[in-house]
Amino acid sequence: MIKKSDVLEVSRLILSKYPLCDRCLGRQFHLLNEKADSEEIGHSIKLCLHLKAAKLLNEGKRKVAVSILRALARSGFDRSEAMLESLGVKNSHEEKCYVCSNLLFSNLDAFLRLVESQMSEVEFNTFQVTSSIPKEILSKDDLIKIEFGISTGESIKTEFNRVISNLIEEKIKKQHSAISPDITLLLDPIKKIVIVHPNPLYVYGRYRKLSSGISQTRKVGKDPLTSIEGLLASVFVPAFKAKDVKLHGAGREDVDALMLGSGRPFVLEIIEPKKRTVVLSSLENTFNSSFSGLAEISSLRFCSRKEIVKIKTIGEKISKVYRLRVKADSIPSKEEIAKVEKMVQNLIIYQRTPTRVLWRRADKVRKKVIKWIKIFPINEKEMEVTLEAQGGTYVKEFIDGDNGRTKPSLAELLNTPLKWESLEVLEVKGE
Ligand SMILES: [Zn+2]
Repeated sequence: MIKKSDVLEVSRLILSKYPLCDRCLGRQFHLLNEKADSEEIGHSIKLCLHLKAAKLLNEGKRKVAVSILRALARSGFDRSEAMLESLGVKNSHEEKCYVCSNLLFSNLDAFLRLVESQMSEVEFNTFQVTSSIPKEILSKDDLIKIEFGISTGESIKTEFNRVISNLIEEKIKKQHSAISPDITLLLDPIKKIVIVHPNPLYVYGRYRKLSSGISQTRKVGKDPLTSIEGLLASVFVPAFKAKDVKLHGAGREDVDALMLGSGRPFVLEIIEPKKRTVVLSSLENTFNSSFSGLAEISSLRFCSRKEIVKIKTIGEKISKVYRLRVKADSIPSKEEIAKVEKMVQNLIIYQRTPTRVLWRRADKVRKKVIKWIKIFPINEKEMEVTLEAQGGTYVKEFIDGDNGRTKPSLAELLNTPLKWESLEVLEVKGE
């Protein structure tokens, strides 16, 4: 750690070895006065050293004075160059800055105009900056700090990001924010590349699925409009001028199951939206009138990314009410039905991963709860079964037993083989 009183001496030592621009010198002392601009600090130090040299000259110490003036002239300090000329000392001209080669901070206005033109396509209020600065520059910047034991400096990357952010705030009137900014600017100041990356938006809502044959998310090779995610994409992508959307559901139902009641909660991630102010209620109306009879959405509101985690974890905690049509070899008697309905009150069942999903899920035993069941015979061969099951229960397998992989099953309890014919989710409970 250098003392304040050493600033001048350290600077003299640095400049006698390396030519530095005002910023690269001033940056080494940034922490001593964070409000001051590095360029101003660097320039002031050079002026002080110049005065020191002038004093030494007055005292007749020409050799020391000339060596200081040479170092300053080499670092681009014009007054020192002029003074050397008046002393008749030749060949003391400005050299490129050892650290930044004068590439980073010169012509910032032109770079800012490029940034501005790239941003004009995108709607945003807050931004943050990340920049790619060549390794060589970063390591030279570090080297100065190490060689001269400086711990009061800022890194050149942090400084560049700060300077450009301040300029954008000042000239383009947008707000810098490190916490969930609307856009991230990826800058390469050397190659003059500006990439504007709009950060995602999140919309919470609920969907109802009114027709079977619709999956929750898109499947490769399938018509995207046979999924809730694809239907949402067709409305949300153009409205937000987005690249795409991704659906995060609170659990999922099978492709052939309906999702009724108040609907299943979801968070729609809107990827790279160029537009951010959209009236959600009008999107809801567009969706519901476009896909009437297929699917419906409701309760739309903007939310944060955190809600994805929240709805993913509530999947297990929530329970769902299902209505199934079930075919039976023989319809049980009223008494048998009453007995089973009584048995299935918070009944614990054990399910090994169903045969139909074994190819994509690990084979393990899951413990689930069936809260209640109601059984209504419809005719000689069919019954309507309504039940409430814990989130994540394989309901079809609870009906037919999946060859003994789910125990107990309704078929086992009623003592007759059963086959489910249709399934609807009536309600998602308890978030
Ligand atoms: Zn420099």
